[in-house]
Amino acid sequence: MMYYYCERCNRAIKKPYPSKKYCSVGCRENSRQLRVEEQEIQFWNSIKPLVVTADEQQVLDQMDPAPRAGLVIERMAPSGAVGYRVGCRRIGSEAYTVHWFPTARQRPPSLFKLNPVELPLEIPCPAEYVVVYFDASGRPFATPCFKLFLRGRVISVNWSDGDRRLLIGRSSA
Ligand SMILES: [Zn+2]
Repeated sequence: MMYYYCERCNRAIKKPYPSKKYCSVGCRENSRQLRVEEQEIQFWNSIKPLVVTADEQQVLDQMDPAPRAGLVIERMAPSGAVGYRVGCRRIGSEAYTVHWFPTARQRPPSLFKLNPVELPLEIPCPAEYVVVYFDASGRPFATPCFKLFLRGRVISVNWSDGDRRLLIGRSSA
């Protein structure tokens, strides 16, 4: 008789259910969860903090944190960008899950505007955020995409209220 071994717990599977890969629904689910977490870690680690020149840093150091972040975000914006979103991990959590702001409830259509730049103030906590730009049709730009430390905090905005999905509009359902 042919045996398979569960890819999650290594137990022999005599009767393949629900698949030949896992011995149980539980193992299949745990394994899916692990893959999701790996993707999240990969995503977070793939994005580098923004690097500025020493001259730029001198100017930036003299500014207050919020206008400074606004200036950096405005300067980095690719041509054609109309807005941006910022995403962060839950502070104090081991998980790499990123939640995105603003949400549609905060600011339809889920974008902080550029031209003139809306400061990224309505965020849940001071933390390192990923910044992603969007064009007029609501599509994200692949680059530039960078991490930036933002110091805003609005009591009524909770990390858990943020969107699990970066994409906005119809596709974010
Ligand atoms: Zn198993």
